[in-house]
Amino acid sequence: MISKTKEKTGVCANEYFTEKLGSKYLVTTRHGGFAVLSREEYDMLFRGTFTDNSALFKKINSAGIIISKENLKNIIFSFEKQLAYFLAPKAYLINLSNECNLVCKYCHANATPDNAETMTEEIMDKTIEFMASSPAKGFYIEFQGGEPLAKFNDIKKFIVKVNAAAKENNKEIISTVIVSNMTLMTEEIAKFIIENKIGICSSLDGPKELHDSQRQDVSGGGSYDSVIKWLKYLQEHKKTINIMPTITAHSIRFGAKKIVDEYVKLGARRVMFRPVYCIGRGKANKEELAVPAEEFVRFWKESIEYMAELTKKGTLVYDPQIQSMLRNMLGFPRSYMCMRMPCGAGISQVAISPDGTIFPCDLAKSMPDLALGNVNESHLDVFSRAIPMYARTAEVNPLCDTCAFNAYCGTCYSRTYAAFKDIIPRTPVNFECKVNKAMFKYLFEKLQDARYKKVFGQWVRLER
Ligand code: SF4
Ligand code: SF4
Repeated sequence: MISKTKEKTGVCANEYFTEKLGSKYLVTTRHGGFAVLSREEYDMLFRGTFTDNSALFKKINSAGIIISKENLKNIIFSFEKQLAYFLAPKAYLINLSNECNLVCKYCHANATPDNAETMTEEIMDKTIEFMASSPAKGFYIEFQGGEPLAKFNDIKKFIVKVNAAAKENNKEIISTVIVSNMTLMTEEIAKFIIENKIGICSSLDGPKELHDSQRQDVSGGGSYDSVIKWLKYLQEHKKTINIMPTITAHSIRFGAKKIVDEYVKLGARRVMFRPVYCIGRGKANKEELAVPAEEFVRFWKESIEYMAELTKKGTLVYDPQIQSMLRNMLGFPRSYMCMRMPCGAGISQVAISPDGTIFPCDLAKSMPDLALGNVNESHLDVFSRAIPMYARTAEVNPLCDTCAFNAYCGTCYSRTYAAFKDIIPRTPVNFECKVNKAMFKYLFEKLQDARYKKVFGQWVRLER
């Protein structure tokens, strides 16, 4: 495809993929370079009929669509960045119990108030031993559940023990986070969280009417007031709390603007629009809650346009998932585990259940078939079982392999298993592929528009 002139000057074609963007052509490479070409330019690229000093040459040389002496190092470096996370898992999602005082309609963990399964002190010690014996130099800890605050004393005990083990084994605890529904929060717990610099995440589906219809206790009482009370308390104490909505068929009826407005009103600037997962109780309530891919994409576009408009007017608000997608497109390291191939499950993170079973990620924990092992085993034994999960890579998914978005995208191992009882994504017709493809195409289109490019530039530079 490259002319004789190029062969003489040591330039050769890189592998590239194409997607039509209106009247233009998006050309991407496996290392994540891209250029948007006119029809004439695309034709010249295809036939290799461009000259070394042409504008087209400069464009495709800087994107790495052709490989030259000038860009070879950058191309190699991009692959290095993509593969940098093939190390021992660093994120440990700890489930001290599966008890929860709420019975949210879409709980993927199927947690209930009468679920008494709790991590014993022996399993806790084994879990910490397992973490401390990891080849990784440091780790992130996230208390999940159930509702972690139902076992607050066990959280305190775990933190004391894991700190001692980290010190003894020369490891760093990079961060500790509690994911809570906020209904069991007290002043004592809030002070402990603030004093110990523990991160806190919660769920807020949107305005009270929407949130309380989905996140209830057994008698139907909503949890909105608790979330708001403690959000304000923590904000008054200069503590950031990350909140996240789950998007269901009810959210779609409310519309994206009302949800964004609720977040802005509360002083939150991150709104991650995550579709409901049909796993656990989410599967049991699928008929009521599930959102077709096309409707989710419509809703998502409405949210981006609204958040971009607010950002332009000086109210900074963004979706961290869009930030991650843009970062993948613009050559930043792929730090978001759920938007890369293979994803972070079992490679960068694991979830540990109250009985010590190790799952590849939090979403997998209600699917026993996906267990990787348990805390009594060695790291090597457990993580060698993550190897077959490389079926998640683009190379072994024939349609992903030739897709223009494969360098930026990710398929979900757990959601694929939940839907199909195996790990091969049904591209291009499964929910994630339809949604991801539409989102990437839309983001590439909008990147050609100077107004959006400026806003996207602001979003990607914000701290994750
Ligand atoms: S999941 Fe779909 S959009 Fe993503 S790389 Fe595969 S084929 Fe492309
Ligand atoms: S399996 Fe799904 S939820 Fe879990 S890390 Fe991978 S993409 Fe994320």
